[in-house]
Amino acid sequence: MGRYVYDFTEGGRDMAGLLGGKGANLAEMTGLGLPVPQGFIVTTEACRAFLATGAEPEGMSRQISRHLSAVETAAGRVLGQPDGPLLLSVRSGARFSMPGMMETVLDIGLNDASVLGLAKASGNERFAWDSYRRLVQMFGSTVMGVDTELFERAMTLLKERRGAPDDLQLDASDLAGLVETYKNLIHVVTGEDFPQSPAEQLRRAVLAVFGSWNGERARLYRRREHIPDDLGTAVTVQRMVFGNLGPDSGSGVAFTRDPATGRGGLYGDYLSNAQGEDVVAGIRNTVPLAELERLDPASYRRLREHLRTLENHYRDLCDIEFTIERGTLWMLQTRVGKRTAEAAFAIAAELADEGLITADEALSRVSGDGLAHLMFPRFDTSVTGDPLARGLPASPGAAVGAAVFDSAEAVRRAAAGEKVVLVRQETTPDDLPGMVAAQAVLTSRGGKTSHAAVVARGMGKVCVCGAEELTVDTRARRFTTGDGAVVEEGTVISVDGSAGAVYPGAAPLVDSAVMRYLETGACAEQSDKVVDAVARSLQLADRARRLEVRANADTPEDAARARRFGAQGVGLCRTEHMFLGERRKLIEQMILAADDDTRERALAALLPLQRKDFVGILEAMDGLPVTIRLLDPPLHEFLPDHTELAVRIATTEAHGDLPDPHDAELLDAVNRMHEENPMLGLRGVRLGLVVPGLVAMQVRAIAEAVVERRRAGGSPKAEIMVPLVGAVEELRIEREEVERVLAEVSAESGIEVTCPVGTMIELPRAALTAGRIAGQAEFFSFGTNDLTQTTWGFSRDDVEAAFFSAYLDKGVFATSPFETIDREGVGRLVGIAVAEGRAARPDLTIGVCGEHGGDPESVHFFHAAGLDYVSCSPFRVPVARLEAGRAAL
Ligand code: PEP
Ligand code: MG
Repeated sequence: MGRYVYDFTEGGRDMAGLLGGKGANLAEMTGLGLPVPQGFIVTTEACRAFLATGAEPEGMSRQISRHLSAVETAAGRVLGQPDGPLLLSVRSGARFSMPGMMETVLDIGLNDASVLGLAKASGNERFAWDSYRRLVQMFGSTVMGVDTELFERAMTLLKERRGAPDDLQLDASDLAGLVETYKNLIHVVTGEDFPQSPAEQLRRAVLAVFGSWNGERARLYRRREHIPDDLGTAVTVQRMVFGNLGPDSGSGVAFTRDPATGRGGLYGDYLSNAQGEDVVAGIRNTVPLAELERLDPASYRRLREHLRTLENHYRDLCDIEFTIERGTLWMLQTRVGKRTAEAAFAIAAELADEGLITADEALSRVSGDGLAHLMFPRFDTSVTGDPLARGLPASPGAAVGAAVFDSAEAVRRAAAGEKVVLVRQETTPDDLPGMVAAQAVLTSRGGKTSHAAVVARGMGKVCVCGAEELTVDTRARRFTTGDGAVVEEGTVISVDGSAGAVYPGAAPLVDSAVMRYLETGACAEQSDKVVDAVARSLQLADRARRLEVRANADTPEDAARARRFGAQGVGLCRTEHMFLGERRKLIEQMILAADDDTRERALAALLPLQRKDFVGILEAMDGLPVTIRLLDPPLHEFLPDHTELAVRIATTEAHGDLPDPHDAELLDAVNRMHEENPMLGLRGVRLGLVVPGLVAMQVRAIAEAVVERRRAGGSPKAEIMVPLVGAVEELRIEREEVERVLAEVSAESGIEVTCPVGTMIELPRAALTAGRIAGQAEFFSFGTNDLTQTTWGFSRDDVEAAFFSAYLDKGVFATSPFETIDREGVGRLVGIAVAEGRAARPDLTIGVCGEHGGDPESVHFFHAAGLDYVSCSPFRVPVARLEAGRAAL
């Protein structure tokens, strides 16, 4: 027979798994000598046993009786005794807080006899009957399964009959009558009587709380919060104390410091003559805690002392619930309190200053997500009102601008000084100029790794994607919301990329002091505690971390910004981003070239443009590694859209004109190069192997840029990276070409150009044959976007919108594997590749440059997997630095 019940004097906060958070902390407070009404805890183990078998675990009942006796002895009263009964509360309390998701039954012990005793002992008949009424209602619904609605209807009917606007106007005899009605209701609905035996009430209430672990609400909550289903809840049984016995009683909540800003000092709300439930339900307006000092100075003083004791003991911000019963203060609950990101940084720094926690502990208490939150301007949500639509929070921040429906319009208006939001069904590389020009991007389709999301994140641009309730009509230049509201081009809207919401009009913005600090390295307001705390956390993290942090950057501006944010190099320069705009014509010529000469001319025209890009990036990252990836996407991405072309030709012909021969040629090429699955088609290293001259041009541009930088006295450190390798042979062939061109440029310039050549590991086959591939690679960089796509067989452009929400609901996974690395599957491949790669080449440098490189949880995985660096978008660099430091603690 197991042990299923613990007295408050027997537990402690390190027992939250067994006693639940609430029970463990009540035990801790009891141990500290704080005034906690006596009680005991029925363990999560008992709950698990009950849920597994449907039967009460053997011996539990007896153990409860024994602990109840101890409470009765201490109180000098017996549960439900007819004169002045002891009453109990029965509450749920899981390891992780699940506020309001499970059941509670209060006032256990009242029955037809003890209600009279309570009336007499309290000298308050109305209070006694109201308590009994509450018990019958809570027990009836929670334990006996009667719809709460029925009780509420009965209450409403009675109030109408009495002409009473609220239940405070009902007197003791009204409430006594209501108890009778409630009991009849229970009998009619269940065929059973409300149990008069206090022991039976207690026993059944405990089991009902166990059962509520599997209630609909609780299950949904767990799924959303990623709380495992098999933990079970503990049940806390505690002597009732009453805050509703008159003006010298009351209930409140308090924090040891302000959870919104972290500022020290008492903070909270108080409601006189009320139970804790009333404070939460907001039936009357609470007063600030400071008011309690006037109402009951002695209790206020004691409360302040207890809060200080708690904060010193927990060495963290605590929140508590308390009740004052006729001038006596009782502590009913405490826990380490939730707080805003701002408060988290401020509190950690302050507690470290006070010597309550170490610097390492301070670092462990802040998070990359919190930092990301603080880096962006925010909307003042107290004034925004209801959103027009919701979507995925794809790239954080807040932006305001006029809705525009294509890239050209965005560019035109932005050039005229207008702030715009680019609204599209989804974006393509064609939208890039518009995205650059816009304050924010809003799409009705696509997930968090859709083009819009990835590019926006890379640019630090606000983005909400997959706002499915929106119908975007690009032609009519408007969108329609789920409610049928129409937003025409030019209408100002506000996009909240942190929350995934879109608001009408210009919502007021609050600027980010943290961002100002990161961008300039200076703290404008010397007194800004949060900025100061962020700066200190980052310094600590930089000292602690083993992982280097590089940035994914394709332009000198991005590279320079990333460097200001602390990047130690560029981990991924995607050269395709340099093939857009004006240069597209040259790519077209290269693709359409009928002979070598034409192709070479097109490539030769591209060369100086590419070289200039590389010079700029190498200069911005002078002295630090810059990993330049050879062209990756399928070439037809650089050709016009098939439908657009076909329509253009058909329209011309319909007018009796001859189509532009260039258009016809283009259409022919588009048809020729069409692929059903372009992501698995002619891209990556495959392009290099089949398009003559392409690799040579890119490598020459890199090598000449290195030469130019060296001649200018710089210290360029270019690295050449080959994408989408699946077999060592592919890399070997491409590598030969790379080395040939490097030697050529070295000979021409008289400057020895050596660049490490490495590969992306972004196909399962590459990971599984990493040992062989390492023979041809000086470095690996995991492309976890493609590796996730190909390991799961999920199209990264489609699945998030298509079925991920269903998968998340069904619990197939808790977060999108495109966001947080899937440790079991993709992570395993990473592990294999690291082990086999290093075994073959011990000095192999290994990094990651997929989106996961900037995801806090994934950073911890990459640290543990032994990688050398993570590379992420410039705006994620501070986040990754912080998390890499935390991972190393
Ligand atoms: C990747 O696949 O993770 C990667 C970084 O490459 P891209 O996103 O450009 O395919
Ligand atoms: Mg890739």
